[in-house]
Amino acid sequence: MKRSLLLLLSCFLFGCTEMKAPCTPFTLSAEPPKYFVILDYGHGGFDCGATGTDTGVLESDLNLLVGERVARALEDRDCFVLRTRTGPDALADTKRDDMARRGAILCTDGADCTVSIHMNKYDNRRIKGPMCYYQAGAKDGQALAGCVIDAITNALGLDPRLANPGNNFVTRIPSVPSVLVECGFLSNPEDERNLQDPDYQQKLADGIAEGVIAYLEKP
Ligand SMILES: [Zn+2]
Repeated sequence: MKRSLLLLLSCFLFGCTEMKAPCTPFTLSAEPPKYFVILDYGHGGFDCGATGTDTGVLESDLNLLVGERVARALEDRDCFVLRTRTGPDALADTKRDDMARRGAILCTDGADCTVSIHMNKYDNRRIKGPMCYYQAGAKDGQALAGCVIDAITNALGLDPRLANPGNNFVTRIPSVPSVLVECGFLSNPEDERNLQDPDYQQKLADGIAEGVIAYLEKP
């Protein structure tokens, strides 16, 4: 088999990371994506986060499902998306190492903003709905969180609500505007059901992406 054909086949089989030159003719556009967004899907592996009160659904699995929908929606809107994880596993064997790796990814140079995806849980089962947290005192983070909660409530047909100040690792560590989205309450029967519904997940994800773009495109 000719060497050029072998190279071409390698590209198809193993991706282009090691074989950039032979793959260049297949690149559709020379323009880099307009924005760079880091997406963090909370928990994973040994750390499943919250669990659904009625169904036992794992927060870590829902974070991945909703997060991937957000990633695709952002990619469709000219964003390069870096994920902290792409599968069900944690980033390391211990919570401490997992958070260290997550933090390093969240601090990657050149990002425009970061978004962490989580699901909530509370003792009072009547409490429901999405919430967006920004790092208390961070003006840009507050603006981003405001755009995201506005777009989510709009996409889901909910009453408007304000973004919330907080102090979380994933909003404190990055030097760029950061938001932690709590998509809904796994302790509330309606939220728990909705958050497992693919149509609802898509609306929610589109809302999150819409809010991020609205923030990034602000003058
Ligand atoms: Zn969580």
